[in-house]
Amino acid sequence: MNARSFPDIGTGTPDDVGILLEDADGFVQHCTSSVLRYVGLPEQMDRYRGRPSSALHEAVATVFLDRAAYLEGVTFLRGRGQAVHREVLTTATGRTFERTFVPLHDGKVRTGTLWQFGAARSADDRADDRLALFEAIFAALPGQMAVLSPTGRYEFVTPSAIRDDALRSWIIGRTDREYAEYRGRAASVAEAREASIRRVVEGRAIDEYEEELSGADGGTRHYQRHMVPMFGADGTVERVLGYGLDLTQLRRVEQQLRQSQKMDALGRLAGGIAHDFNNLLTVIAGCGEALMLEFDAGDDRRELLDPILEASKRAADLTQQLLAFSRRSVQQVTAVDVIEVLDRTVAMLRRLVSDTIEIRVHCVPGSHAVPLDATQLQQVLVNLAVNARDAMASGGTLTIEVRPLSLSEPSFGLAEGEYVELQVIDTGHGMTEEVRQQVFEPFFTTKPAGVGTGLGLSTVYGIVSTAKGAIRITSAVGEGTSVRVILPRDRRDLLTRTPSTASMPVRGKGTILLVENDTLLLNLVRRRLQGLGYDILEAHDGISALEVAAQYAGPIALLLTDVVMPRMGGGMLAQRLKEVRPETRVLFMSGFVDDPALAAEIEQGDEGLLQKPFTLHLLAERVAGVLARP
Ligand code: ADP
Ligand code: MG
Repeated sequence: MNARSFPDIGTGTPDDVGILLEDADGFVQHCTSSVLRYVGLPEQMDRYRGRPSSALHEAVATVFLDRAAYLEGVTFLRGRGQAVHREVLTTATGRTFERTFVPLHDGKVRTGTLWQFGAARSADDRADDRLALFEAIFAALPGQMAVLSPTGRYEFVTPSAIRDDALRSWIIGRTDREYAEYRGRAASVAEAREASIRRVVEGRAIDEYEEELSGADGGTRHYQRHMVPMFGADGTVERVLGYGLDLTQLRRVEQQLRQSQKMDALGRLAGGIAHDFNNLLTVIAGCGEALMLEFDAGDDRRELLDPILEASKRAADLTQQLLAFSRRSVQQVTAVDVIEVLDRTVAMLRRLVSDTIEIRVHCVPGSHAVPLDATQLQQVLVNLAVNARDAMASGGTLTIEVRPLSLSEPSFGLAEGEYVELQVIDTGHGMTEEVRQQVFEPFFTTKPAGVGTGLGLSTVYGIVSTAKGAIRITSAVGEGTSVRVILPRDRRDLLTRTPSTASMPVRGKGTILLVENDTLLLNLVRRRLQGLGYDILEAHDGISALEVAAQYAGPIALLLTDVVMPRMGGGMLAQRLKEVRPETRVLFMSGFVDDPALAAEIEQGDEGLLQKPFTLHLLAERVAGVLARP
């Protein structure tokens, strides 16, 4: 065998370990300098390489007290040794060395022998090595581990279970109960562990249970405990291995998942209720309005109608809030001026906060129209102001600023373009970074039960994201908080959502295809539009609407349709109808749109959406508006 075919092992070997490598025929392949140093022949490698190793072994043997025994061992092991063999030899000067014989095999064929010489290690030393290795393994494992006697006395604990070194030594030989006493903790955790150990010893099987501990930060930590029997030779439980896996993070994630599923279910429920209510409210308000027109100004019966209209208006506001919460409200066709709404709201804010808080308002002139309705914007302002108030229990300054903001490059997760910035700044107690990262989570609150609901900022977040805006919070403990709400600037004309009932209804003419699956609403709208002079074709869903249109020979000026309907919805209907009657205008009526794709489609249509519930007056205005467009 060619000596060079072996890698040059051993040059990096520490001085006290020597390696001698022989081939199958007993020729020296390699020898580390340390071996040669032992035998007083440093740097004479070339004299031995490729020669029979017996010469080298002869030299090595002279170092040892029993020279003959050394050489006999070489012959014996080389001849018969099948397994690694380790023995301790004493040198002439009284030092001990350990000689290790390692037979080398390549499959079944013996390819050579490796001899290793090193400072002898006692059996105790080696046991210590192994123990250190196991301790290192235990310490590296993610779980907490302990070995206990059947009576619950600690024999071994990993640093992951007890971090403090002194405490970890202290507990050896002691029980959980003693530990609890020592640390002034309740005995319940210790009792549960004792009971589990008893079950393991008696049942001779693994016991599992979940444990709750109060963590250093005051929060609850969850652990999965496994108590595992360790059997002695006689089959009795000699020791118990306690294993603890920290489930806190998992539980937290589970909790969040449940929370978001709950929010989602609540959102669906709220959205569904609001949708049905919107139809009903449109009928109630519409009939009330129609009646109002029948009575003269002095008629006593108007006094009975006023509360009906007022109540239905408030109910409509409620459904709007439900929709904001469920984030199912469509992009508003209305836009409001932030400054105008702020002006109207400041008086209310002053009543909300105490006298010790000064409110300052700064508005930079410019265009401040944003795609929200007044109720939503007020909700944003009120929620932010209430939070600021809560943070300034002993007084301070609440500053509200409004300014146009032009983004020349994408920032805050928003595209470049024109925005309106609303900033609410307080001089309150501020919040930690940890709190700041959670504030938008529904039900996240740091306030005592009954005071905080944790829904304030999540509602604001819902409203702002529906309007395709962004929200950013900066805060420092003791230094106050600043909330920046950035909303896209709305270029559409501001539409007033509260037309005065005194103004004259807009009359018109032409054929309107009215599609609505709610019969009450359909009848109301049809009567109103007929009253204004329009001709009405009607249908209860998209499919029958297409049939009606196919049968009608004359022009159809407008398709006025609900969005969510059985069989075929408004979006699809509009698309199909436009294919055969491209000149027909489309106006959607809806309270919400479930499908974001549908919502996008509706937004694209320039005729837009008539938000339910609507007043008959607004209906007349929007219909006339759409038909009047060039
Ligand atoms: P709630 O006010 O019901 O607690 P919010 O969603 O409005 O719920 O706020 C969540 C948490 O955010 C509050 O409990 C509080 O810890 C923190 N927070 C919100 N606004 C402020 C603020 N202006 N200053 C300090 N902390 C605030
Ligand atoms: Mg709040």
